[in-house]
Amino acid sequence: MPRDRVTLACTECKRRNYITDKNKRLTPGRLEKQKYCRFDRKHTLHRETR
Ligand SMILES: [Zn+2]
Repeated sequence: MPRDRVTLACTECKRRNYITDKNKRLTPGRLEKQKYCRFDRKHTLHRETR
């Protein structure tokens, strides 16, 4: 199965808040999600990191 473990980092404070997995065939590029950042205490854009 082409599923990879990816880390999502907040684009505002750069902290790595979430670990998830994604399907590489469905999401070949960088994964981006609006998620709650407990350090910023609001929803921010989280981006996949290596
Ligand atoms: Zn943040």
